[in-house]
Amino acid sequence: MPVNETMVQEIVKEVMAKMQIADAPAGKHGIFKDMNDAVAAAKKADEVVRRMSMDQREKIISIIRRKIKENAEIFARMGVEDTGMGNVGDKILKHHLVADNTPGTEDITTTAWSGDRGLTLVEMGPFGVIGAITPCTNPSETVLCNTIGMLAGGNTVVFNPHPAAIKTTIFAINMVNEASLEGGGPDNIACTVEKPTLETSSIMMKHKDIPLLVATGGPGVVTAVLSSGKRGIGAGAGNPPALVDETADIRKAAQDIVNGCTFDNNLPCIAEKEIVAVSQIADELMHYLLTENDCYLASKEEQDKLTEVVLAGGKLNRKCVGRDAKTLLSMIGVNAPANIRCIVFEGPKEHPLISEELMMPILGMVRAKDFDDAVEQAVWLEHGNRHSAHIHSKNVDHITKYAKAIDTAILVKNGPSYSALGFGGEGFCTFTIASRTGEGLTSASCFTKRRRCVMSDSLCIR
Ligand code: NAD
Repeated sequence: MPVNETMVQEIVKEVMAKMQIADAPAGKHGIFKDMNDAVAAAKKADEVVRRMSMDQREKIISIIRRKIKENAEIFARMGVEDTGMGNVGDKILKHHLVADNTPGTEDITTTAWSGDRGLTLVEMGPFGVIGAITPCTNPSETVLCNTIGMLAGGNTVVFNPHPAAIKTTIFAINMVNEASLEGGGPDNIACTVEKPTLETSSIMMKHKDIPLLVATGGPGVVTAVLSSGKRGIGAGAGNPPALVDETADIRKAAQDIVNGCTFDNNLPCIAEKEIVAVSQIADELMHYLLTENDCYLASKEEQDKLTEVVLAGGKLNRKCVGRDAKTLLSMIGVNAPANIRCIVFEGPKEHPLISEELMMPILGMVRAKDFDDAVEQAVWLEHGNRHSAHIHSKNVDHITKYAKAIDTAILVKNGPSYSALGFGGEGFCTFTIASRTGEGLTSASCFTKRRRCVMSDSLCIR
C-alpha cells in the first residue's frame, strides 16, 4: 500500500507518543536507565561483533541502510519535532545520503610488505566499545552514520546524545539493533541512556571499557573529550566563509551559496555562514542574491533587532537555531513573503551576526578591497577552527593561496557546501568532521587501530 503524507504524520505521532521519556523502553534494543549498564551491554555485544566476519558486519550494515531509507521521512519529521530545528525535506535527503554514501567495510584495508625476510601486514583492528557524543543539529544522521562506520570497523558504540534530541536518537538506536538482530548479529551494538546528562557523559568518558571517544559538537564537548586522557576524535565547531572573487561566475556563486546556506536551515557545520566578496563584484553578487535567490535584505534597524533576538544577552538563542528565514523575520515583527529563504545584509567582519556561528539562514556579506584582503578577512572569520571554507573563483592561483591560508578540513570550490558531503559532489558522506584532531571527514577506518602482523622468513612467494 503506498504511504501518503497523512499516514506518515500519523506514524510519527504514534512513535513520538510511545516515546515519552518516562515510558522509554528501558533495557530493550540498546536503551538503558544507567550508563554503566549501557556500557556493559555494548561490551557484551562487542565480544560477538569482534569475532564476526567482514561479510557478517556488511550484512547488518546493508540492513541498516535499507531501514534508514524506509524510515527516512519518519526520522526527518521526528528530528524536526524533537528539536524544533531544520526542515523535513532536507532532512529526508540527509538520511538518504547517510544510507547511500557512508562507507562500510570496504573502508577497512590492509597494507602489506613482502620480501626476503617474510611477510608483514598492517591491519585495521577494532578498538572495542566506542563512546560517542552527538549534537542536536544532525541527531539521527550522526548516530546512524557513526554506527555504520564504527560497526564496519568491528566496534560497538555507546552514545551520550544531546538531551534535546533524545527521542529521535532512541528511535535510531532501536532501529540499528533491530537491524543487527535481523542480520543474525547481537542486540546492543549501539546503546544509550534514557536521560543523557553531563554526568552520564562523564561516566562514559571515564569508563575503563571505553578506549576511544568520538565527540561531534561545539568547542566545549571537544575540549572535554580531549582532556579525558583517552584517545579522542574531536569534530568541533566551524564558521565557514564563502569567498567570492572577481573571476567567479557571480550568478552561479549567488545560487550555490544560498542553496548551501539554507540546506536544513543552515544546521550543517559545513554550511556557508557568511560571504566575503571582493569589492569589484560585491554589488553584482548582492543583486543576484536579492533578485534570483529569494533573499531578504535586512535594514540596519532590522539587523539590530535580529542581533537582540538571535544573540540575546550575548548568547546564542537556541530558539533561533535551525529556524527558517521567514520564522526568524517574524520574531522581529517582519512579515516576509512566503518565498523568502535567506536574510542578507552587508556589514563589517566584526558584526556579531557575521562573526558568530549562528546555524540559521542569516548571511552577512563582508566587502574586501581585493583578493588578499578577502583571504585575510575570511581567515579571521573562520576563527582558527580549520573546519570548512568555500570559494567561488576561476583563478587557480587564488584558490591555492586561499586553501593554504585557511587550512581547513573542507574547501569547496565553485559549488554549494553540501557537495563536500558527497551530495552533488564526489566522495563519501559523514556527519562527523574531525577538524580539531585532524582525521577530517571520518569513516570506518578512523574508528580502528593499526596492528602489525609479521611472518618472519616465510610466506613471501615471489
Ligand atoms: P553542543 O556542543 O551544545 O552539544 C554537542 C554534544 O555535546 C551534546 O550531546 C551535548 O550534550 C554535549 N556536551 C556539550 N558540552 C559538553 C561537555 N562539557 N561535556 C560533555 N558533553 C558536552 O552542540 P550542538 O548545539 O548540539 O551542535 C552544534 C555545534 O556542533 C556547532 O558548533 C557545530 O558546528 C558543531 N558540529 C560539528 C560537527 C562536525 O562534524 N565538526 C557536526 C555537527 C555539529
